Amino acid sequence: MSAARLHKSNDPFQVDQIDIPEPTGSDVLVRVRACGIVPNLKNVLAAADFLPELAFPEYPAIYGLDPAGEIAAVGPDVLEMSPGQRVYVNPGRSCGSCKQCRNSHPQRCKSYGLGGYHGFTPEAARPFRRYPWGGFAEYMIAPASAMVVLPDNVSYEEAARFGYLGTSYGALARAEAGPTTSVLINGATGTLGVGAILLALAMGVPKILAVARNEDTLASLKALAPSRIVTHSNNDGPCTDWAKKETDGDGPDIVIEALGPGSPPEATTHALKSLARGGRLAMIGGGFDALPIEPPWFMVNQISYLGCLWFTTAQGGEIAQMAAAGTLDLSPLTHEAFTLDQVDKAIEAACNRERGGLSNIVITP
Ligand SMILES: [Zn+2]
Repeated sequence: MSAARLHKSNDPFQVDQIDIPEPTGSDVLVRVRACGIVPNLKNVLAAADFLPELAFPEYPAIYGLDPAGEIAAVGPDVLEMSPGQRVYVNPGRSCGSCKQCRNSHPQRCKSYGLGGYHGFTPEAARPFRRYPWGGFAEYMIAPASAMVVLPDNVSYEEAARFGYLGTSYGALARAEAGPTTSVLINGATGTLGVGAILLALAMGVPKILAVARNEDTLASLKALAPSRIVTHSNNDGPCTDWAKKETDGDGPDIVIEALGPGSPPEATTHALKSLARGGRLAMIGGGFDALPIEPPWFMVNQISYLGCLWFTTAQGGEIAQMAAAGTLDLSPLTHEAFTLDQVDKAIEAACNRERGGLSNIVITP
């Protein structure tokens, strides 16, 4: 099969011919049809040699975070899946045997990592050695338990966006978003931010406060649901007072923090300080600098700050069901496809998207 592999850092990706792997045990072989690229992949590749506290795929590495395709073969212990099924492959890998894994919290496993991307601890190297395949290849192997079965009305290109949609969904779910909540999305025009808007609409959130810089993309987001979405450009100053005013003086119940890396801490604190009493901030992006914390304010206002990482395969299934029912509308996304020999070009394209998070960059192996 053809696989776009990185042989060492700063080299271009190279298309190699390698053997198609064979699924064993409860693993499945997936014929990849589309694999999403997020802008942060460029940072991940640049960091691979310098951050020993994280884990990365070993060279020659097959990256590719968000694969979708059809099942080509199943291991002998797979009883309920079969070749031909259309799937998204949740890249979340964990040990499967620790207390957190056994309690259905794989993201809290100390070996947790995202296949074809990076892990969050040195221990995450272990699942990478077990599953060294990302989505920049014609075939890959993953555990059957990582498969999200796709409805017919979700294309492979749309499914290749499930990773960041799922991250936003996991955050909204953990912050208890729904028909009685208002949600401010900080960094609304990026990949995570657009995902959060589409999911908040699907989850029945009546008022969505979209905050970002790019006024054109904000206008496109507002047009998705003019009666439910209000927008604020950071060019017009901090969002705190605006957000309070838009929510009858109370402030939003939830902030989804989806700013990109390198964002100033003030951008987060302005959104945080807008929260209503009892409010929750769910962190899925944001800058890396320390935030000033005022403990009494958290206490008196009953504020929660929630660190949210990725999502479970079960939550991926919920997204698929919402898309099947039509409550989740993925049609606002526009797709730009690149072939396996264009991975480097695709990574650049992901960093320079005209429509921000409304653009979806995929590799089609
Ligand atoms: Zn574990």
